[in-house]
Amino acid sequence: MNEISCALLVVGAGPGGYVCAIRAGQLGVDTVIVEKDRPGGTCLNVGCIPSKALIHAADEFEKARLWAAGPSPLGISVSAPKLDLARTIRWKDHIVGRLNNGVAGLLKKAGVKSVAGRARFRDGKTVEVETETGPLLIRAGQIVIATGSVPVELPSLPFGGPSGNGKVISSTGALALAKLPETLAVVGGGYIGLELGTAFAKMGTKVTVVEATDRILPLYDAELTKPVGKRLKELGVTVMTGAKAKGLSPKKDALLVETGAGDKRVAADHVLVTVGRRPATEGWGLEEIDLDMAGRAVRVDDQCRTSMRGVFAIGDVTGEPMLAHRAMAQGEMVAEIVAGHRRAWDKRAIPAICFTDPEIVSVGLSPEEARATGREIKVGQFPFGANGRAMTKLAEDGFVRIVARADNHLVLGIQAVGNGVSELSAAFGLAVEMGARLEDVAGTIHAHPTQGEAFQEAALKALGHPLHI
Ligand code: FAD
Ligand code: NAD
Repeated sequence: MNEISCALLVVGAGPGGYVCAIRAGQLGVDTVIVEKDRPGGTCLNVGCIPSKALIHAADEFEKARLWAAGPSPLGISVSAPKLDLARTIRWKDHIVGRLNNGVAGLLKKAGVKSVAGRARFRDGKTVEVETETGPLLIRAGQIVIATGSVPVELPSLPFGGPSGNGKVISSTGALALAKLPETLAVVGGGYIGLELGTAFAKMGTKVTVVEATDRILPLYDAELTKPVGKRLKELGVTVMTGAKAKGLSPKKDALLVETGAGDKRVAADHVLVTVGRRPATEGWGLEEIDLDMAGRAVRVDDQCRTSMRGVFAIGDVTGEPMLAHRAMAQGEMVAEIVAGHRRAWDKRAIPAICFTDPEIVSVGLSPEEARATGREIKVGQFPFGANGRAMTKLAEDGFVRIVARADNHLVLGIQAVGNGVSELSAAFGLAVEMGARLEDVAGTIHAHPTQGEAFQEAALKALGHPLHI
């Protein structure tokens, strides 16, 4: 068997793994990365990037459809638009392909050796990779586990088809449909269910969301999700809460759903199951090295060290929150630790964004979470209905909210819901990360007219003297 050795071996080239390898390479660490699929992981190939491409296409299509349907207040009229989904998917794949090449190029530029194939642990220092040309043994000084996550499958609704592209589909299948479904039942009203469910509804599919808890997006507070619920209604999406999918009807033309008011049938060309993702810890020898686990996830400390010396784990394989930028931040930190830097992981300022319509952003603590710490807090909230830029974009639904300590005005958290607020997450993250006070946000000159002004106004409101409300 062929053998190579290296100082650092990274298993998995998703956002966690490839960022870790690039940074380690930049720091002169002799690094090898192993990937069984295409570089970029879930995020680049079947997650963040392709889903946002589809969401953008759906937004544009819906806008044109609305303009075609009647006189637009903007004075624009167009004839009925048509959607060629196969072309949309090709465009999405083209973006993914460009980024695949980009990641491969960045790894090369950083001096990282890429190995294509599935890795399998032999012991805490040795990994065997099935490559196209036969098995390869890699001996490494240190190893980073960055194998990500896979979609949770419901026993009553197993994914069909080789890549989940049968009747019952995962997000991967939904991002590669050849034909727009007339009807789509979405099981799970969380991130993926609502992001993709909204996109399909905008493209013209009749969407029904089946959510087990009593409201959509239970991870976010109800005030933040209210505008999303309202918009889903406008788009004709049926939301069934407190409902559980039981399986396909005998004829396989509908989803059977258990509700408080008895069982219901939901017509469905496809059933998209989005009930969460689980760490990818099975089938590649992790059990051989007997790491401490936290449920299904690999347990790590604040430096992403596992229970075995010299073995780190980053990203989705370490559990919630499963976000690409969290994986990247952990990857960068671990590379610097391996290169001898003193680093630790500060998780206070990880932004979470839901790319629904409108979008939701949350950084740090919500008012409820801040109160639960036992502190007195100040909360300032400013509506987009009083923001000039939002008015010019027909985007008055939503608000920015800031949460701070009452005694010293330290910003503890910031939330927003509204059109395009994902782009405000950078300013929100910076404020929490730098330990800004309300006065810092209120005293920052925000360009006019921008939606960012609502952030400044929320801080002014918390201080008791907003200017535009
Ligand atoms: P992954 O990206 O899952 O990468 C792991 C890699 O390891 C994979 O390429 C896999 O092939 C490889 N691998 C696994 N086992 C082996 C093995 N034995 N040998 C070799 N290679 C192996 N997050 C956001 O922050 N924003 C978003 O907008 C967003 N949208 C999403 C939309 C969808 C539809 C989905 C499914 C996810 C989305 N996510 C989003 C989540 C995001 O994709 C993940 O949090 C992120 O990809 C995690 O990165 P990772 O590096 O930990 O793992
Ligand atoms: P999720 O955890 O966001 O949502 C799952 C939803 O399914 C929850 O609301 C849950 O109550 C519901 N549910 C669970 N079991 C059910 C059942 N049997 N019947 C009906 N409903 C049920 O999971 P997801 O949407 O699959 O996404 C997985 C992960 O991917 C997310 O947690 C997130 O970390 C990541 N992601 C992030 C983004 C983003 O950052 N914008 C986008 C997509 C995915």
